[in-house]
Amino acid sequence: MKHAQTYQLNVDEMNGFFEQLSEKYDIYAPVRISCGGRYAKDDSIIYQPINTYQEIEFHERSTYPLKEVLTPITQTLFYFTEDEFKESKSPQKDILIFGRACDINSIKIQDQIYLKNGNIEDYFYKRIRDKVKFILMDCPEQFEGCFCCSVGANKTDMQSLAVSDNNGSAYVQVYDSDFANYFAKYAAVNHEIQPPLKNELKVDYPVIDNLELANKLKEHPMWKEFDARCIGCGSCTVSCSTCTCFETTDIVYTQNAHIGERRRTCSSCMIDGFDKVASGQSFRKKTSEKYRYKILHKVYGYNARFHTGPMCVGCGRCSARCPELISYPATLNKLSQAIKEIKGGVQHD
Ligand code: SF4
Ligand code: SF4
Repeated sequence: MKHAQTYQLNVDEMNGFFEQLSEKYDIYAPVRISCGGRYAKDDSIIYQPINTYQEIEFHERSTYPLKEVLTPITQTLFYFTEDEFKESKSPQKDILIFGRACDINSIKIQDQIYLKNGNIEDYFYKRIRDKVKFILMDCPEQFEGCFCCSVGANKTDMQSLAVSDNNGSAYVQVYDSDFANYFAKYAAVNHEIQPPLKNELKVDYPVIDNLELANKLKEHPMWKEFDARCIGCGSCTVSCSTCTCFETTDIVYTQNAHIGERRRTCSSCMIDGFDKVASGQSFRKKTSEKYRYKILHKVYGYNARFHTGPMCVGCGRCSARCPELISYPATLNKLSQAIKEIKGGVQHD
């Protein structure tokens, strides 16, 4: 962990700090949208640009993850006519994003896919990613279903600042010298923002270290129950901090199909049509097959390709968003049990 000075600022001072920052930065943070949730009276907590400290929701997990600032659910990449195209506007200012350790660590996985996959950098991701710095949010409360400690995502060193809300004031820990001048007028205080060291939920994250084991797991009966339980809605992947799949669509404005815009829209391996190939065939028709693919990709496929660990930061959003109450940690525990059975030579009909 980098060394950092800590300062204590009241709300007005934080708002003054934000005002100074706004000359150079757009600031994004989780914001509560009253009655904006799944059911009529549910709120949602989503990432939005903010101007004041009071707008930030510190005490509940955001409904959707930090990745939405970098890769919105839908975004226009460029506009086209018959013979030319114009790139969509890139962000004018630099960007500061509030996030918890798991959320910030999830961006390493987004970077891996968008910047280091097959030695090709995604232009539209890179143009925003190069402008982003992170403000680590303290995480003193446990949210239901979080297991960041089980996947080592509870600590990060990617932050420029860290902020701990203290009921009417904020502790701000300054890691990045670019921000030191803002705090020159304050005296440092003796307070260190600590990462969470233990979750209520402990997950024994399965290790699949070879293709033979992965192939045997595909045949295990543990997946069958998901044909009855999973409805293939894709909520778990849209809300996942680490899922990256998208599709591109050309939207035409008029009867002239040569004038329009190309959009990139979040997609999901859990929905029908995702794996449809040019001949019209789909290879994972049942929801159990789709779910199996998703889980084995997160536990095995991603790490087999990049050797950087699991494709999961333990944020718990997939389970929180599933309308069928399917728990990702429970699935991981079943997978660990299936691995034990296979290694122990247990046969299933
Ligand atoms: S799989 Fe679930 S717990 Fe893991 S990063 Fe995605 S949403 Fe979070
Ligand atoms: S696991 Fe849940 S959230 Fe994911 S596709 Fe199935 S029903 Fe939807």
